[in-house]
Amino acid sequence: MSFPSQRIFRFAPSPNGRLHLGHAYSALYTDHWARALGGAFVLRIEDIDTVRCRPEFVEAVFKDLQWLGLEWPEPVRVQSAHFDDYRVAADALRSKGLLYPCFCTRAEIRAAADGRTDPDGAPIYPGTCRHLPGAERLEKLEAGVPVQWRLDVGRALDGKGELSIREAMPDPASEVVKRRAEPERWGDVVIVRKDTPTSYHLSVVVDDAIQGITHVTRGMDLYASTDIHVLLQVLLDLPSPVYTHHPLIVGEDAEKLSKSRGSESLAGLRALGIAPGEIRAQFTF
Ligand code: GLU
Repeated sequence: MSFPSQRIFRFAPSPNGRLHLGHAYSALYTDHWARALGGAFVLRIEDIDTVRCRPEFVEAVFKDLQWLGLEWPEPVRVQSAHFDDYRVAADALRSKGLLYPCFCTRAEIRAAADGRTDPDGAPIYPGTCRHLPGAERLEKLEAGVPVQWRLDVGRALDGKGELSIREAMPDPASEVVKRRAEPERWGDVVIVRKDTPTSYHLSVVVDDAIQGITHVTRGMDLYASTDIHVLLQVLLDLPSPVYTHHPLIVGEDAEKLSKSRGSESLAGLRALGIAPGEIRAQFTF
């Protein structure tokens, strides 16, 4: 596949809390490599979770990144304004017979799980709804039972041969090599959630394609997700960027920083009088 001459990198935070040092590292890393390779740095707001994401967190993302000295082209793509794009992609998968409705609750999945776990440690979906008779599916859909749509990974991989990820490690200037993708290790992942008409996996691949992203730079916590992303790219006939997964910034207790653990936010550091230059100076790329 020929590569567009313009290199486009993206930083794609979810505004469900305040950004912390790990986000600062990822954003500055992305900006550094975009500049070093003569590319553009694009910001995207990943707010498909309309309950946990809040407008004040979106504003805070802009403020924190500006404070760090980052710049990006406007308008910024905000995922919640593009649910139609994800619907079209989900419909394309559905029309190929690759999605099936799943009515299971979390508790039902836990109860039926066979002990196998996905790379994130969650139980692999036991497949309960994969073989639900058509009449029962229809009945539940018509009755408005909460539904999520899962990818039939076995069927999706049928006849596809070996899938590979184009990877540049340890950084985007490294030689691009192919790594074998193993999407089956995720089981039948959710592509359309119950609470929002898409999922992280679906919206991220659709947006990367729409925005012409050539280089994905993100933390190692999403390393295994790339296996699903390249499968979706093949199924939806979308180009596949080059992927670089950088190390995660850890706290003093060596645990990954996270919004839910209340890790020190950039706003908190700013309030303590820390200058953006001091934050930049902590990182080497
Ligand atoms: N929105 C995701 C997050 O904040 C990142 C998505 C990605 O880089 O692919 O963790």
